[in-house]
Amino acid sequence: MPSHYDLIAIGGGSGGLAVAKKAVEFGKKVAIIEGHKLGGTCVNVGCVPKKVMWYAASIAHAVSDASGFGIQVQNQAFDWETLIEGRDRYISMINASWNRTIDNQGIDKIDGFAHFINSSTIEVNGDQYTADHIVIATGGQPIIPDLPGAELGITSDDFFELHTQPQKVAVIGGGYIGVELAGVMQALGSQVELILQSSTALRAFDPLISETVMENLKKQGVTIHTEFKISRLIEEQNSITLCAEDERTIDACESAIWAIGRRANTEQLNLSAAGIKALPNGNISVDEYENTSINGIYAIGDITGKAALTPVAIAAGRKLGERVFGKNKTSKLDYKNIPTVMFAHPPAGTVGLTESEARKKYDKVTTYTTRFTPMRYALAEHGFKTAMKLVCSGDNEQVVGIHLVGDGVDEMLQGFSVAVKAGLTKQDFDDTVAIHPTSSEELVTLKVAD
Ligand SMILES: Cc1cc2nc3c(=O)[nH]c(=O)nc-3n(C[C@H](O)[C@H](O)[C@H](O)COP(=O)(O)OP(=O)(O)OC[C@H]3O[C@@H](n4cnc5c(N)ncnc54)[C@H](O)[C@@H]3O)c2cc1C
Repeated sequence: MPSHYDLIAIGGGSGGLAVAKKAVEFGKKVAIIEGHKLGGTCVNVGCVPKKVMWYAASIAHAVSDASGFGIQVQNQAFDWETLIEGRDRYISMINASWNRTIDNQGIDKIDGFAHFINSSTIEVNGDQYTADHIVIATGGQPIIPDLPGAELGITSDDFFELHTQPQKVAVIGGGYIGVELAGVMQALGSQVELILQSSTALRAFDPLISETVMENLKKQGVTIHTEFKISRLIEEQNSITLCAEDERTIDACESAIWAIGRRANTEQLNLSAAGIKALPNGNISVDEYENTSINGIYAIGDITGKAALTPVAIAAGRKLGERVFGKNKTSKLDYKNIPTVMFAHPPAGTVGLTESEARKKYDKVTTYTTRFTPMRYALAEHGFKTAMKLVCSGDNEQVVGIHLVGDGVDEMLQGFSVAVKAGLTKQDFDDTVAIHPTSSEELVTLKVAD
């Protein structure tokens, strides 16, 4: 007889852990199946290692500005190995903490990769398990394109395995992962070539963000290659040359990192045995309650292709657990106005609609923009611009979008997202007394519409 559970979560990442923890709160018998390490992408090859390295890069920026403030920093050297060892130790602590948490909560952990036998039975390493409710939370993995020499490049997962720092590195892709890795590597002393297929990075974001982040990257010394459509990678004298369709080349790269997107981890799942058909890109289609087409099987997190962010996967898992096992039978995640931050240097953040999205949706749109060099750089040799935009709709000027680049915006945006979510207006912003001297005070003192 296979072991039977109230709920099985396939994938012990952000979403799987969240739904499992919620189910045990309701006294349910729960198992998590994980083929790799608890914590998933975020803890092991995503947010956490990335943010530790972002802190290192931020400190490097601060050190280079220190002398203007009268602080002389001796022996300004950087040791990659120390950073990587410290980062990995920190991640191991989080892995261990997750193992303890699920142990303490009585959640069974099944090690290995799962596939469906039928809509209520799953097999892992030859053993079968059944459940009344099965949540697919298997996330995604980086894409490597089908191009000659593509295997010479590495992915973001492999980047976190690098034990020596590449001196010259090509980061291929202008999404947030490419931009973040480029900024980190350049600040830590690598020469970074950022390869964009189109004319701009962060294309999905408001131009205020994409333009300011590109400007800041260039100031930091990142070489940006626009409209560079890669045709192949070649190995030459122990280094990599990138070749474009238009014959441009970038040579002598010690490393090339593919950051061109991620695809869903559905291939191994044998979804057809459960009666589920994945979309052509591998994602699993779900309704607003995270139901798949099969009763009792749900999907949450990156696998759904909705908003690939850790807090989204966690919130979707908690809401789903509440709906299935708790009293609130209409519990579901509202996917509108999800804030997000790009950990560039300085960071960028956004919530709500871009200006062009707002103009498509509303008849009357007003915007308020400011650009300035913050006091952080008052005595520094170089300064990075802060830029801010409010997008408002209607006669009452409801704030429907906020777009920020600058020191501190990563922390600033969370509070301002509450305001957008609550439907507050420009007048509410104006009625709020500023905190001085800060950059965030600009957001409540913007006077003239663009
Ligand atoms: C470089 C990088 C940086 C990021 N930075 C941020 C950030 O700053 N902020 C943010 O919010 N988000 C960030 N993300 C995105 C975030 O990591 C994901 O949105 C989040 O981890 C998704 O959670 P999930 O539960 O859907 O999947 P995952 O966390 O990917 O978990 C899926 C788990 O399922 C396991 N698995 C897969 N197939 C099977 C199977 N068949 N059987 C058993 N187990 C299986 C995998 O091993 C994995 O552990 C980043 C991602 C990357 C790659």
